[in-house]
Amino acid sequence: MKTSVIGFPRIGKDRELKFASEKYFKGEITKNELLEVAKTLRKEHWNVQKENAIDHIASNDFSFYDNVLDTAVLFNVIPAKYKELGFEELDTYFAMARGYQKDDKNVKALAMKKWFNTNYHYIVPEIEDDTEVKLVGTKPFDEYKEALSLGVETKTVVIGPFTFLKLARFKGSKTINDFKDAFTAAYTDFLKAAKNAGVKVVEVDEPFLVKDLSAEDIALFKEIYTALLANKNGLKVFLQTYFGDVRDIYDTLTNLDFDAIGLDFIEGKETMNLIKKFGFPKDKTLLAGLVNGKNIWRNDYEKTLKKIGELKTVIGNDAEIVLSTSCSLLHVPYTLESETDLSDDYKKHFSFAIEKLSELKEIAALSDSKAASNEEAFKANRELFSGRVNSYNASVHKRTDAITDADYTRLPVFEERENIQKEKLNLPKFPTTTIGSFPQTADVRKNRNDFKKGLISEAEYEAFNKEKIKECIKLQEELGLDVLVHGEFERNDMVEYFGENLDGYLFTKKAWVQSYGTRCVKPPVIWGDISRKAPITVKWSSYAASLSQKPVKGMLTGPVTILNWSFPREDVSFKESTLQIALAIRDEVLDLEAAGIKIIQIDEAALREKLPLRKSDWYTEYLDWAIPAFRLVHSGVKADTQIHTHMCYSEFTDIIPAIDAMDADVITFEASRSDLLILDALKENNFKTEVGPGVYDIHSPRVPSVDEIVTALTKMREKIVDSKLWVNPDCGLKTRGDKEVRESLKNLVEAAHIIREK
Ligand code: GLN
Ligand code: ZN
Repeated sequence: MKTSVIGFPRIGKDRELKFASEKYFKGEITKNELLEVAKTLRKEHWNVQKENAIDHIASNDFSFYDNVLDTAVLFNVIPAKYKELGFEELDTYFAMARGYQKDDKNVKALAMKKWFNTNYHYIVPEIEDDTEVKLVGTKPFDEYKEALSLGVETKTVVIGPFTFLKLARFKGSKTINDFKDAFTAAYTDFLKAAKNAGVKVVEVDEPFLVKDLSAEDIALFKEIYTALLANKNGLKVFLQTYFGDVRDIYDTLTNLDFDAIGLDFIEGKETMNLIKKFGFPKDKTLLAGLVNGKNIWRNDYEKTLKKIGELKTVIGNDAEIVLSTSCSLLHVPYTLESETDLSDDYKKHFSFAIEKLSELKEIAALSDSKAASNEEAFKANRELFSGRVNSYNASVHKRTDAITDADYTRLPVFEERENIQKEKLNLPKFPTTTIGSFPQTADVRKNRNDFKKGLISEAEYEAFNKEKIKECIKLQEELGLDVLVHGEFERNDMVEYFGENLDGYLFTKKAWVQSYGTRCVKPPVIWGDISRKAPITVKWSSYAASLSQKPVKGMLTGPVTILNWSFPREDVSFKESTLQIALAIRDEVLDLEAAGIKIIQIDEAALREKLPLRKSDWYTEYLDWAIPAFRLVHSGVKADTQIHTHMCYSEFTDIIPAIDAMDADVITFEASRSDLLILDALKENNFKTEVGPGVYDIHSPRVPSVDEIVTALTKMREKIVDSKLWVNPDCGLKTRGDKEVRESLKNLVEAAHIIREK
């Protein structure tokens, strides 16, 4: 059995590409030095795949920033404003990715969006009415030749025309229909150029096929590929899909002239059924995505071999089956070898990109073996699934098993609580507040780092934070804010902080995953059952509350966000892990309440992140347990304790009833950048929760004027009843500087006063 890898992480074992790029941006290294780093990385990555005897190794999976942006540049989809900069190729590319502000030049970056259901973000291509779509680049062919010169025959990978068109933004009056022929022609030229460069296999990635497709989508795909595949000229063309199954278009795909079709058996719930129902064409190769390209756990060989067996039975011996990753390995960290602090008891259960290569090799060999179950590799793998150290906690299971419907329901109902809270908290109309964090200045980070490194004592660390909290409360009182916060000086990150204080979590040294461009994240790992070791935030919140007559909000991260920004387990469901986290955070909520905290905010910044790609799955697969999990966190509080939540986006127009069903008392969210369309939707849905649609954008250092905020609030009042409207920035202030925060909040409070007087 042969093996295939869809793509490999490019950032490097020690994030070399990130650091080199950042140095290049700052002018600290030359372009040639940057190109050299990239070349070295590509070589290393091809070699390690070759050493592991991978049969189908990708080229052109490398990128300086993003593969969608690479594709845009390859086909001349470069908006005029970037061309006008007059830069050479790589700098134009970086200007599109990051914007360019210097001297008299000032262009913004292209927008960035989440890449399907991953935490990777792609650059959104912009197609203007006069964009002349044509093949202008040579990157894919150069990299093919580069690999070949190193003795590695690769397949050339490119984002396919259908996915590209579906993800692009059309800036003028033209649409997909006006551009489909131009793209078909440009990709045809791409195939020709590939052939001329000596390429033998082109792999087109079409992940958009796993989404809900309309009849027009299917017709479009068919039209483009019928034309394209008539021009193969002896080249082999592989179609690669991932992140789900292709149920809406399976029978169309199998009837097109692809040489191989890549299907995802990990996230594609229906993949096996589709093959059973419609069969698989004899003249094609099946690239079977059976090794998870997203999670970090070892593959269960027994299960995988069983699936391969099933496939062989259904397909017979007519079509070739190639063992593949389920998606690009871009979404997993580089290698376990860097995790020198983790004992082997833990490490042996994990598999990062490098380790997945050996899994592919082992599974392929086992599937060729006459008696796989007698092989050492199989037995060793079986061992891993007999249990894991320190992962089972009986008392946690006892608690989750005992959850009843009543635990998901907060009483009294919202309307009654709202009145009780208004009376008790006695806040002015249009109450002002912030989202939680205050500037994480250099001294704040130093204090935390020094404590972590053992350079200062716990007492010193705490004394510093208390001083910061004191200043923060004083500032908020001076500014005249109504609901105060402690400032979050003890937190590095809203998930890692809670992870560190919960049992069941593991941390890695270098398990970085690219999030976008040069930015990487290092999610903590949910290893076992989750429980709270001891109160986490209570001392900080109580201290802050003791300093003011005004209410100080407690500040927590919600269970869905904690799960979504961690590497999840594979041996229990997301739901189960989320409920465990929810119970731990519930304990914290109740402890805060007992300590006299009257308002508690539970952030769900990443709630939307794991929304399934298909609408039909939104509720059944996700919201039906995620929303109750949030309610479980706060259902135990008294009527007069006010629960806030916060989300970093306003893209929940399509799930407004679900957001309302979180049953928080107040929700703050980002609305300042999104022309306030969300407000109409809230009104139409009779949204009951009180709302604080951010009145200014904290992502820029700009100080909003009083007028601007008054205008925003006036617009909001047209859609939201006065009694439900809060006044706040659109997210936490931790990335901002002290001066702009003071000025911005001063204007915010003044604007609220003006509105009150009206
Ligand atoms: N309370 C957090 C903060 O203010 C919320 C962060 C977020 O929404 N991403 O920083
Ligand atoms: Zn936010």
